[in-house]
Amino acid sequence: MLGTNPRDENAYDVVVVGGGPAGSTAATFLVRQGLRVAVFEREAFPRFHVGESLLPANLPIFDRLGCHQALQQTGLMEKRGVTIFDEYEHRGTMTVQFPRLPFQPDSSYQVVRASFDDFLLHHAAASGASVYRQHTVTAARHDPDQVVLQVTAAQGGTREVRTQVLVDASGRSTFLGTQFGRREPLPDLGKVSLFAHFRNVRRDPTIPEGNARLYLIPQGWMWWFSFADGTDSIGCVLHAQVVKARTGSIEALFDEVLATSPRVTAGLVDAERISLVQPVANFSYRITPCVGDRYLAIGDAAGFIDPIFSTGVYLAMRSGELAADAIGEAFRAHDFRAHRFHAYDKYLRRGTAPFLPFIERFYDPEFLDTFVSQRAPTWLRLPVVWVLSGAAFDYRSLWRSLWLRFGLAIFFAIVHIHKVIRWTKGRTVASRRSW
Ligand SMILES: Cc1cc2nc3c(=O)[nH]c(=O)nc-3n(C[C@H](O)[C@H](O)[C@H](O)COP(=O)(O)OP(=O)(O)OC[C@H]3O[C@@H](n4cnc5c(N)ncnc54)[C@H](O)[C@@H]3O)c2cc1C
Repeated sequence: MLGTNPRDENAYDVVVVGGGPAGSTAATFLVRQGLRVAVFEREAFPRFHVGESLLPANLPIFDRLGCHQALQQTGLMEKRGVTIFDEYEHRGTMTVQFPRLPFQPDSSYQVVRASFDDFLLHHAAASGASVYRQHTVTAARHDPDQVVLQVTAAQGGTREVRTQVLVDASGRSTFLGTQFGRREPLPDLGKVSLFAHFRNVRRDPTIPEGNARLYLIPQGWMWWFSFADGTDSIGCVLHAQVVKARTGSIEALFDEVLATSPRVTAGLVDAERISLVQPVANFSYRITPCVGDRYLAIGDAAGFIDPIFSTGVYLAMRSGELAADAIGEAFRAHDFRAHRFHAYDKYLRRGTAPFLPFIERFYDPEFLDTFVSQRAPTWLRLPVVWVLSGAAFDYRSLWRSLWLRFGLAIFFAIVHIHKVIRWTKGRTVASRRSW
């Protein structure tokens, strides 16, 4: 759009650092606006990645990317809801189905991230982005009228690449956040996660196969997602206290934690682990600021809240789409100063805000008394399920917004009543968030 030479492999309108869901989405929407875009991705794809359970709000983004049908043809497990098993305080088993809404469907997918991310990156390339795999961006420098990057190829050799605008989609590496901004851990969410892939598991026939299954256990919680190719992902999120008290290997800790769930243990009788046990620690943080002159951060590079409600990939892709809109407008105005991108930053923070109270309260026993309770009527959970399906991110209608606020106010009032009941019965009311 600014007339960069289409043959020049070292000058682009926009460079995207990272080819995960955020980077691929941004790149596709950017090239659609006539911009010359390069994506530099450090790894050789396909590569293993955590984050396999998507929200219904993801599906309209696939439609807008123009790749939904092709994605479905890769073979995906349909996810219609979430089932929570309480194996800690024994409240029972609770299933919520996603509601069908005028602007999003009532289902989503469980995806193997290696092939899902590869598919999206191919789609960005097919749309016209120049994609360089196994190329690491090692440094960025602001010149008066461009950003200059150092890019190192895995085969060797470093080159300088110039760009008008830089998009940081480097995920948890937070490439720019650590260079230009501040990375702040979210208080009390210093958790540790261990996870792996399995085959030959026994899937519980009483639960819809595609449902995300969450297990509440004394050390934290576990997930179990089933894929269309017959393999399964099982992982746990542990309180930091549990991990600090340990000295053995992560494999031994993982096996020990899985063994605390009778249901998971039964499912794994004939199973074979087909991946390494992968650890991730202290994954909740925010980057401030996440925009500046000639740059924006998207996806995990802008911040990550907590995996409990499977919001990560949706927020990554939606932020990629919003950033592409903001960059397109900046090109049309020939103005790349930070103030151009503040509206993007604000929209992202506002859209993410509805998830936060749930993540904070998930570790409170009275929240679980209300949400997981067998006696809770469907209407009480409905506003919560709206938020957790991603429907609240783009909430701009006044009436819907009032309805949602009213519904959530009632829900949290009942949470408070449960707290009083626990307290009068002498049961613990302490949150497990800071454990
Ligand atoms: C324990 C756990 C469980 C989770 N479960 C879920 C879930 O069920 N559902 C869900 O939606 N989300 C989940 N998430 C979150 C999800 O994994 C992320 O939010 C999502 O992957 C973010 O996508 P992204 O594109 O921003 O980053 P990523 O997918 O991490 O992609 C970033 C890419 O940037 C590349 N890169 C990094 N630095 C450089 C560099 N300097 N140069 C070039 N390339 C670089 C990396 O190689 C990587 O491929 C979970 C997260 C955790 C920690």
